[in-house]
Amino acid sequence: MTDHKTDRYSLLNLARKALRGHEDWKPVWRNPAPKPRYDVVIIGGGGHGLATAYYLAKVHGITNVAVLEKGWLGGGNTGRNTTIVRSNYLLPANTRLYDFSLKLWEGLSEELNYNVMFSQRGVLTLTHGVSELTAQMRLGNAMRLAGVDARVMNLDEIAREVPLLDCSDQVRYPIVGGMLQERGGTARHDAVAWGYARAADARGVDIIQNCEVTGIRREDGKVTGVETSRGFIAAPKIGICVAGNSGVLAEMAGLRLPMESHVLQAMVTEPVKPVLDKVIISRAWHFYISQSDKGELVMGADLDGYNSYAQRGGPNVIDHVVRGCLELFPAFGRLKMMRTWGGIMDMTMDGSPIIGKMPLGGLYLNGGWCYGGFKATPGAAWTFAHTIANDAPHEINAPFSLDRFASGRTLDERGSGPFPWLH
Ligand code: FAD
Repeated sequence: MTDHKTDRYSLLNLARKALRGHEDWKPVWRNPAPKPRYDVVIIGGGGHGLATAYYLAKVHGITNVAVLEKGWLGGGNTGRNTTIVRSNYLLPANTRLYDFSLKLWEGLSEELNYNVMFSQRGVLTLTHGVSELTAQMRLGNAMRLAGVDARVMNLDEIAREVPLLDCSDQVRYPIVGGMLQERGGTARHDAVAWGYARAADARGVDIIQNCEVTGIRREDGKVTGVETSRGFIAAPKIGICVAGNSGVLAEMAGLRLPMESHVLQAMVTEPVKPVLDKVIISRAWHFYISQSDKGELVMGADLDGYNSYAQRGGPNVIDHVVRGCLELFPAFGRLKMMRTWGGIMDMTMDGSPIIGKMPLGGLYLNGGWCYGGFKATPGAAWTFAHTIANDAPHEINAPFSLDRFASGRTLDERGSGPFPWLH
């Protein structure tokens, strides 16, 4: 994939196709009609759905699988997120899940033979007060004890490594230090969906776009299949991976989830030359920023605070993000904002995901990702595939069961992570 011969071939190929009007590209996955029956149906063609199908085929040899997507692959949160990948968590269950995922990210381009542009540029969480710094040090110590990298940085180091950041004391929240996870970074979101799609298709998985699930049939306490906009499809096992629509799908199976749907917005500026080589998060400002490979500055903040299924939000959040950006990076005031958009977040009551069996035979859920499911894509999907194949959780996802909300074994980080308002 990355050797020079291949690169030269790709460039020549690209030039040849461009001269022919880009008309003779071969699709990289098939476009099959749905079969009447599958061993497993996965609902949702985002990163989690596609990766689950891939690991079902690759790790468990289950290839009679369909991924049903109501729109286009990656058109949900996978293609709308700000692509931060990290594993800086306090609770052991979260550390295990997210660091397992990070290790899979580290080999993902090779695994899929598809460049997902994973860039371990480092995720720096700024602290704006001594108590915040102490809390980050506690988090960093917990991470190191769990074998995860973490480094506390003082103000001088930060000023040296992020020269455009305003490290003076002439601001509302002067920076006092920060915590860096060097192995954290970003990836190209669409490539993750496309890479998993191509690899799953190559192993025999049917990827069916424009196929909306409208009902879940059940009999004697078990699922029997799904009603879709393209007819009924029978399946003894159904995996739901629909992010902000988890509650809607669960309702089709007669279940209510401890989850709400909210909009989360992000935005990008016009592209510029490389100016920022880390992901920067400010807890006090509820703000984060990184620079994409195209050169755009990618920014995000907190939820729009009302329930919604719209994939767009209000101007108050945009205003807040821009204020945070200008306070931290005054030089970015000269940039033009290019685009804003939103995605539907599946918010659980403890801020942690649900990855496991549902109280209906053959039904499984991977959802409740709140703000942070992109980074979990490889690891969560791997454990979800294990759960579906064995009808039992793997030890990594066992703590993320639905029944933790009934038993009281909830997984609440209590704002210890890089984002005080989220996980
Ligand atoms: P999705 O990618 O949303 O896929 C679900 C799919 O299900 C969709 O394509 C949808 O069309 C389909 N679907 C829904 N209903 C049906 C139906 N009835 N029938 C068939 N198909 C259906 N996470 C991070 O880790 N780092 C970040 O920096 C980050 N930033 C974010 C910024 C924003 C603005 C947003 C919106 C999210 C962010 N996230 C981030 C969260 C992350 O994007 C999600 O948690 C993750 O992408 C969820 O992936 P998924 O595959 O579960 O869902």
